[in-house]
Amino acid sequence: MSKPKAPKIGFVSLGCPKALVDSERILSQLRAEGYETAADYAGADVVVVNTCGFLDSAREESLAAIGEALAENGRVIVTGCLGAEAETIRAAHPGVLAVTGPHQYEAVVGAVHEAVPPLHDPFVDLVPPQGVKLTPRHYAYLKISEGCNHRCSFCIIPRLRGDLASRDAGDVLREAERLARAGVRELLVISQDTSAYGVDLRYRSSDWHGRPVAARLTDLCTALGELGVWVRLHYVYPYPHVDELIPLMAEGKVLPYLDVPFQHASPKILRAMKRPAAEAKTLQRIRDWRAAVPELTIRSTFIVGFPGETEQDFQTLLDWLEEAELDRVGCFRYEAVRDAAANALPGAVPEEIKEDRWHRFMAAQQAISARRLKRKVGSEIDVIVDELDGEQALGRSAADAPEIDGRVYLAAGAPPRGARKLVPGTIVRARVTDADEYDLWAEPLAVQ
Ligand code: SF4
Repeated sequence: MSKPKAPKIGFVSLGCPKALVDSERILSQLRAEGYETAADYAGADVVVVNTCGFLDSAREESLAAIGEALAENGRVIVTGCLGAEAETIRAAHPGVLAVTGPHQYEAVVGAVHEAVPPLHDPFVDLVPPQGVKLTPRHYAYLKISEGCNHRCSFCIIPRLRGDLASRDAGDVLREAERLARAGVRELLVISQDTSAYGVDLRYRSSDWHGRPVAARLTDLCTALGELGVWVRLHYVYPYPHVDELIPLMAEGKVLPYLDVPFQHASPKILRAMKRPAAEAKTLQRIRDWRAAVPELTIRSTFIVGFPGETEQDFQTLLDWLEEAELDRVGCFRYEAVRDAAANALPGAVPEEIKEDRWHRFMAAQQAISARRLKRKVGSEIDVIVDELDGEQALGRSAADAPEIDGRVYLAAGAPPRGARKLVPGTIVRARVTDADEYDLWAEPLAVQ
């Protein structure tokens, strides 16, 4: 008798790295239950679309993706942030089989069971030890909490995802260890507000290898630093205790990299945004951090054209940027988010002014970035190889997070000491030979 064919799931994952982690969890669970993933719509018994509902443009993209999946396959389950608005989805696409909100793993999996029943009972051995990952094998996102206790006026994430809910440190560490054992060499720590980790748990301790580890960022990072992999911190707000992370960077326990979403520098705009740590003396903090760890990379994101932003506020931002000399910066033109408090603020900035400020901001930052990268020419850095492109290897240094920062192009030629050839995940020592505004070129020396 021939073996019954495993049901196949199509999966479309939209949105931020946090949504990607959700997708991985759902897929891990389905894989454990004997489902397979389909490479295209045609081969899928049902398609799950994990949506993003943050900006209007993301909502449109999500609705379009649902429409495409319906047209191509016809059997569609929707989950993720936009899933919190079932009526919107059903109004646009009445044919969807089910709609579930963010982090409702059981509900999505239940909807899949209903649409395409599993072949047999869960059989854990079907899951690879690291779960199912959508990122390349050598790096992985590690989500340490969900939700957020802040109420930034432009953001609806707390409404979509709820208040901060941290995972116990032991739970996070076990996942991190599993990933490291499965070959992951770089962990990207994510959440909505990494600095607030554990506040909701009152920093309670949990067991990891017979010892208590507190749900506090410094304690968690210290323990993560023992795993022997790169640890990169995202979405860190400049609360005072962030200073405690700097010694861990100086000791090489976590990467000297901080992703701090400053969003603006004008105190007036920061207050209107209701940003956490709006009053922090950030320039002095940055100076102190860099004095302790000179190779520290600081990445940030900003919004220009927020309601009420005057030319003077914008100039304050440009001056701050010049002083702060951040390494990596993303900039968004302010866009109204449905139901966000900021929509009611007076002083909407006309689109052409937003556009003009965005270009001026990017030009200023490009010059800063080019200046900072040029200083690296001649130095030696560690590079993690991401992919091979013919003879050339493309990688990233400690200063580059995947997808959002620059790249390091490793020169083709004889393999470096310690390797017959470079493969993704190899960490190689390299000498920087050239730089432009975003990327570096380097020659590999020896495998680390
Ligand atoms: S800190 Fe602000 S922007 Fe970030 S998730 Fe919380 S409310 Fe939204």
